Amino acid sequence: MKITEVLRQEKLLLSFEVFPPKTDTAFASVKSATEEMAKLKPSFMSVTYGAGGGTSRYTLEIAKNIKDRYGVPTLAHLTCVSSSKDTVHARIREIIDAGIENVMALRGDLTPELENADRSAWDYRHAVDLVRELKESGADLCIGGACYPEIHPESANQQEDIRHLKEKVDAGCEFLTTQMFFDNNLLYNFLYKIREAGITVPVIPGVMPITNANQVARAVKLSGSFMPVRFKSLVDKFGTSPAAMKQAGIAYATDQIIDLYANGIKNVHVYSMNKPDVAEAIRRNLSDMIG
Ligand code: FAD
Repeated sequence: MKITEVLRQEKLLLSFEVFPPKTDTAFASVKSATEEMAKLKPSFMSVTYGAGGGTSRYTLEIAKNIKDRYGVPTLAHLTCVSSSKDTVHARIREIIDAGIENVMALRGDLTPELENADRSAWDYRHAVDLVRELKESGADLCIGGACYPEIHPESANQQEDIRHLKEKVDAGCEFLTTQMFFDNNLLYNFLYKIREAGITVPVIPGVMPITNANQVARAVKLSGSFMPVRFKSLVDKFGTSPAAMKQAGIAYATDQIIDLYANGIKNVHVYSMNKPDVAEAIRRNLSDMIG
């Protein structure tokens, strides 16, 4: 099923994100974790794509398994930075052959190596180039894209970032998923601005349950997200007590989702990081709201 169809439902919908293993030996345990999450019947599951394509095989294997065995719609991520046209065409073919109907079209992060590379030879510089390629391929795929309530770190300002986002949507992105954020007001402000800029496609907010103190620094480095004082207090108080930090992180994410739903947002993507127990706890907390 296409994500645009999934999003038409009226009750609260939770989707989960998983990531493929980096090594062959980790495959069995990751696969099993993703299956546990699929059993929770999320509205869809997204499977990330390793930067540079290192885990591309597993992205599709996991997405196909979840879809075929559990009937959960899947969204396969695909990055394009530094990839050749031939590689991208091959990946698109594989996605179609796996029967996957949704693709998240991403540029991918610039590693220090890529940052210093000669970009004039690249076939794709931005996600919009991949979106155009997907449309031109004629594949019947529902295309998603990433967006950044707190501005992509490479953008000079929000106006510029939103202008590029609009180009991505105009090129064929049918829905957007946000980078994680810990203050819902940033999301509401962002939504107001993109709607004003004429971006009307559905936006799925991405919520990351932080369940251990080490995750905080990594999440901030990765996303540049603002940490509200209320959140920092939780980490200060419970950071050295793993069980309590996990409970507090799940409660914080649950609270964010309830506030989003109360403010009219029906679809929330949980960055569940291959942790079925965390996904299950959040789902349980919201059981009477979920469709
Ligand atoms: P783009 O849309 O290309 O934007 C990147 C920057 O370029 C922005 O500053 C934008 O304003 C600017 N820009 C865009 N178009 C133009 C243009 N035409 N001219 C000039 N500037 C332009 N990474 C992975 O490796 N694998 C994943 O599976 C993955 N999944 C993700 C899922 C989500 C929901 C999010 C939010 C991020 C994900 N990422 C993933 C990280 C992502 O690859 C990085 O954030 C990356 O730096 C930007 O990707 P993008 O697709 O948003 O790029």
